[in-house]
Amino acid sequence: MSDLPDDFNCTITNWEYIYSLCRDVSDDVRQDEFEPDVIVALARGGWFAGRCICDFLGLDDLTSLKMEHYVGTAEKSGEPTIRYPMPEGSVEGKDVLIIDDIADTGGSIKRAQEYVEQRNAGTVRTATLQLLQTSEFEPDYVGEQLEEWAWVVYPWNFIEDMVDLISGVMETADEESFAKADIRHYLNEYHDVDRIEMEIAQPNRLTEVLTEMERRDVVEMTAPGEWTLLE
Ligand code: ADP
Repeated sequence: MSDLPDDFNCTITNWEYIYSLCRDVSDDVRQDEFEPDVIVALARGGWFAGRCICDFLGLDDLTSLKMEHYVGTAEKSGEPTIRYPMPEGSVEGKDVLIIDDIADTGGSIKRAQEYVEQRNAGTVRTATLQLLQTSEFEPDYVGEQLEEWAWVVYPWNFIEDMVDLISGVMETADEESFAKADIRHYLNEYHDVDRIEMEIAQPNRLTEVLTEMERRDVVEMTAPGEWTLLE
């Protein structure tokens, strides 16, 4: 998210919605009569989906592959790289379903497919819960296609993303201090996050996020109900 401009649209999701996308992907896999032996869930975004799809499809073999974009000291590399090699025997001779949360450029899932194929797997197919039109890679199974580009805030990284989004809007708005109403206002202005939509998706969580931002020394409470950005 750090590479994004100050201004971009966000969609906040909840567990139920994402769970239904996991069910949709599983339905497609079943309908296609593809019966994978193992699921490879890309870390970190594909983990929840990987576990749920195992349940929907009746699989007990789940393994992981961690994709990263950074080499050395926070230098962005164009190509996604594999952080940890897969344990010997995890995919050899097996039919594999690779799952991730979203394909944006599609680089991660494409690279993961190449990697798994090089390890003498059987049939290798790919799935993502969501697909953006920016993706150059088309997974075999897709929960939903998004018409317009948005940053999707998933429930498993709600706090991580909200800390980034809130500190970002505080920096851009450049005010001395912010009340909760100001934060909501700027989230709406810069990221199109509607207050009611946010409360429906993730009720009563703004205080929790602000408390966590204080604990991480990102913000400081300067007066009751007023926060200032520290970094
Ligand atoms: P690349 O590998 O080139 O960064 P990907 O499309 O493979 O692009 O995305 C990598 C990971 O980054 C995704 O699995 C997801 O966790 C996160 N991500 C990328 N774009 C978004 C987005 N629009 N909303 C939420 N998460 C995203």
